[in-house]
Amino acid sequence: MSENKEPRTVKFVYDFTEGNKDLKDLLGGKGANLAEMTNLGLPVPPGFTITTEACKVYLDSGEEPVALRDEVTAHLDALEQKMGKKLGQPDNPLLVSVRSGAKFSMPGMMDTVLNIGLGDKSVQGLAKQAGDERFAWDSYRRLIQMFGKTVLGIDGELFEDALEAAKSAKKVQVDTDLEATDLKKLVTKFKKIVKTEAGRDFPQDPREQMDLAIKAVFDSWNGDRAKLYRRQERIPHDLGTAVNVCSMVFGNLGPDSGTGVAFTRDPASGHQGVYGDYLQNAQGEDVVAGIRNTVPLAELEQIDKKSYDQLMQIMETLENHYKDLCDIEFTIERGQLWMLQTRVGKRTAGAAFRIATQLVDQGLIDEAEALQRVNGAQLAQLMFPRFDEDAKVQMIGRGIAASPGAAVGKAVFDSYTAIKWSRSGEKVILIRRETNPDDLDGMIAAEGILTSRGGKTSHAAVVARGMGKTCVCGAEELEVDTKRRRLTVNGTVVEEGDVISIDGSSGKVYLGEVPVVPSPVVEYFEGRMHAGADDADELVEAVHRIMAFADRKRRLRVRANADNAEDALRARRFGAQGIGLCRTEHMFLGDRRELVERLILADSEAEREESLKELLPLQKQDFVQLFEATDGLPVTIRLLDPPLHEFLPDITELSVRVALAESRKDANENDLRLLQAVHRLHEQNPMLGLRGVRLGLVIPGLFTMQVRAIAEAAAERKAAKGDPRAEIMIPLVGTVQELEIVREEADEVIAEVEAATGTKLKLAIGTMIELPRAALTAGQIAEAAQFFSFGTNDLTQTVWGFSRDDVEASFFTAYLEKGIFGVSPFETIDKDGVGSLVKAAAEAGRATRPDLKLGVCGEHGGDPESVHFFHEVGLDYVSCSPFRIPVARLEAGRAASTSTGSDHR
Ligand code: PEP
Ligand code: MG
Repeated sequence: MSENKEPRTVKFVYDFTEGNKDLKDLLGGKGANLAEMTNLGLPVPPGFTITTEACKVYLDSGEEPVALRDEVTAHLDALEQKMGKKLGQPDNPLLVSVRSGAKFSMPGMMDTVLNIGLGDKSVQGLAKQAGDERFAWDSYRRLIQMFGKTVLGIDGELFEDALEAAKSAKKVQVDTDLEATDLKKLVTKFKKIVKTEAGRDFPQDPREQMDLAIKAVFDSWNGDRAKLYRRQERIPHDLGTAVNVCSMVFGNLGPDSGTGVAFTRDPASGHQGVYGDYLQNAQGEDVVAGIRNTVPLAELEQIDKKSYDQLMQIMETLENHYKDLCDIEFTIERGQLWMLQTRVGKRTAGAAFRIATQLVDQGLIDEAEALQRVNGAQLAQLMFPRFDEDAKVQMIGRGIAASPGAAVGKAVFDSYTAIKWSRSGEKVILIRRETNPDDLDGMIAAEGILTSRGGKTSHAAVVARGMGKTCVCGAEELEVDTKRRRLTVNGTVVEEGDVISIDGSSGKVYLGEVPVVPSPVVEYFEGRMHAGADDADELVEAVHRIMAFADRKRRLRVRANADNAEDALRARRFGAQGIGLCRTEHMFLGDRRELVERLILADSEAEREESLKELLPLQKQDFVQLFEATDGLPVTIRLLDPPLHEFLPDITELSVRVALAESRKDANENDLRLLQAVHRLHEQNPMLGLRGVRLGLVIPGLFTMQVRAIAEAAAERKAAKGDPRAEIMIPLVGTVQELEIVREEADEVIAEVEAATGTKLKLAIGTMIELPRAALTAGQIAEAAQFFSFGTNDLTQTVWGFSRDDVEASFFTAYLEKGIFGVSPFETIDKDGVGSLVKAAAEAGRATRPDLKLGVCGEHGGDPESVHFFHEVGLDYVSCSPFRIPVARLEAGRAASTSTGSDHR
């Protein structure tokens, strides 16, 4: 070991005995959990982890940190001592695996190299030690193949082709039928490929192999697949990966060896039991890649009872220790069980809810922790419709229910077509024999994924579950022919473009489109299905309990954006505590449009008065119905917001009509006037033009008519012994003066109605904060406003200067691809920009008026991450569309309950 005299502040390498499960940032998930298992006394092959910090230095500077080499040497020395053999030692080589492992699991996205340490000499030593020449040469050819592909960047197909050629020369089907002499020849062939393609010999120096592999793992962090996966999963790009160097154990040493994966519970249903797959005489990657057919884990009991019992014991230890579902990778080497990995396992949305409540019942976690075990995205997924079981269907096959959901789409057999077709608006189902990381784009584009091979832990299953995408895998009777782009099953042929339906909850595959029915979770929220009933769905019970936890914990109130009684009633059923935004513009469309047209075109005050008089009772009736539906709850009614031209005919259509009429010399007077008005009101930037409060100020009587309708409706409801709680909201205010003028007029109207009806109405008046100037002068605006509702749609539009109707479709994809933002700021609040204005405005408003009520009614009100932000900055409520209310309730509960630090992704 070389001496390093400089004091070292950063430690880049940790032995497995030094880490623990809470060091995921530093050691990655895999490294942290290997350390945790080592310290629990479980059988983990010894090894060490190179930290993400080392990777970050490498990614930033292009060079490994100077201290890294010596630290690796020291840890390798210690490992060699522990194992009693040296890396690549000719007569008895220590072999290691070099595996990536980031903080968040990225299945198959980064690199791994196994059997490091083998060379021309040590392969002989390994053969002697293992007493198995075939095994040694097979291990060596795997090393050259993996190393060539991942470290030296050689096209993997060259090795595959050479392997195929060796098999056909020998006239055998599978590689296990190749003998030592064949594999020896193959090694020579592989080495030639390396020499030709990489322009260098395959390195015989074991340490060089290891160092190059470590570097390749660092590099794989920035591979295309890994970047795409991170964007999809919203994993930050600057975390870097750790590298685990682990002494090799072999599952391919004969029938008393093998490798497998297991879950402590079913990741699809949450039920406890023996779940997993085992593959005899195989190395680790073979199982996850789904390339050979595995047997259910339960069969291991017959194959190797001792190891099976030990595994069951370990699984119980792990579940109680992690207090959660764990997934595990293990290897049995000649009857000796080794744990290669564990982590808190990914699960379906339904399983997440069930497991969280089961663990509460087992006394392993409390309610606050249960809330951290689920999230709004999962709840949203549970609210998707399902296939109608009573429909007439043609089932053509059945596979493993790998990731739930009901997906319908046109059959496609490669990722390229999946992407191409989905871009042109088609819904597609990606059908593959099995998927691999190169299929990621296609999987993202597809509605669902269907494979004919692989189990619950195959690549397709793991990735689909992670994405919340429907997946049926291992449907073995389907013959998938990707070359001819079709699948055949019992005489039925499904060609590319034929519609199929797949059910990720049952594993069933249907020809044609199967109709869908609402999910039981929606039925529950709608009040059509009850928790606690004898036949209650297990999932509904779990959702019911978790929602109760969330409601007990949350500080934020949740309101709905709803414009009519029907939506308001649904919102109420879904748990809304009021209406945060009633957009009145829809009340001006349909039959009423003509009245509005007349209002806009009015030449005289009398004409305008006339139109307003006709609109008033209609508006009033709208509000009476709304107040009935929301009796006892606050209802924020926003006065008219959109630009006036939206109520007028399309300028081009009208111009053509008038031009044609003129050419026939029978131009209609009304059309001519209309055209003039349309021209007069035409704006280049209507979203920044005559809308919101500006309309109220330039069209006399418009806002007061609306205020009168609200006040009279409220008075009517009061007379009927109702409890209307209207709040009047002024849109697009930029300065307190605008608000003051509107407010003064509104107060007068309200006083008139109160006097006329003899009823005290208590109508609050407040404003949207949706322009930067409003946010910046919130302290002044609060003088005239009893409440603020942040209109984060417009605020995002105006803070970024993004036209909200245009940019998402035009250049957001490019922005997302370039990583300028990870998610559209119209979807998740831009905390640094828009969010900081919200925070500052909330503070300034409250400084002026301590009892100022604060809410948000932009789309962000129903977005999980944004809800957490609004909780943190102290708003009183969020308002969102009725269907998102359960998600907002859940996330508000999660935001308010303290996490015990588990990382659930
Ligand atoms: C907003 O701007 O956030 C808002 C809720 O108003 P609208 O989307 O109707 O402009
Ligand atoms: Mg707005």
